[in-house]
Amino acid sequence: MPKLIATLFLLAAVPGSAQPVACPTGTLTVDAGSDALRGSLCQSAETLLARLADCGLPQQRPINIVEVDTVAHPFADCLAAYDCAFDRIRLVVRDDYGDLVAADDPYMSFPPEVLIHTLLSHELTHALIEQNSADREVPLIDHEYIANALELELMDPAWRQTILDHAMLDRPSDSRIDIWIYRMSPRRFAANAWLHFRQADNGCALIGRLLSGEVSFDAAKP
Ligand SMILES: [Zn+2]
Repeated sequence: MPKLIATLFLLAAVPGSAQPVACPTGTLTVDAGSDALRGSLCQSAETLLARLADCGLPQQRPINIVEVDTVAHPFADCLAAYDCAFDRIRLVVRDDYGDLVAADDPYMSFPPEVLIHTLLSHELTHALIEQNSADREVPLIDHEYIANALELELMDPAWRQTILDHAMLDRPSDSRIDIWIYRMSPRRFAANAWLHFRQADNGCALIGRLLSGEVSFDAAKP
């Protein structure tokens, strides 16, 4: 989550419709260029929010979802971003993600609507971590562990398997829960996080402990 550069987002151009439109449940607004996309984003987000609430991440405040063509980042172009200062998620919506995703990344095999749902699950999780951690600043590595583990947990198992096949991991390792591994090999980080999340005694209970600060993967804050 590019939280540290949130101020830069003030400068970012935001395409989409002029006015965000409320989704049926009233807790989300979507700013997208077509009714069809707006409808599918509402439906995806509402499904995901229900599942995230079941994992100790209930929605506390409205969230705005915005369709964009690019998300600028100092190091690379991102596919999506959560801007904590605005409770806003920006999603890159394209027919072809070839310019933004490496050729060997399993994301390249995802149809656009599956990739958009995947990106939305990841960024909604970041949003709900912020909404459920009170005034506490959750370390970046804990944020990414939760967002990546739940991204795979909420994914259709067939698509998840493509990421697991790509990562080729037999078992999870705490040592791979490392922000540099995430930056260099994000799908491998995600596969490891999900395998770790699925172990006995982890799961949603571990997410609760990470949210409260009882435990952390940040070596600086044991
Ligand atoms: Zn993230």
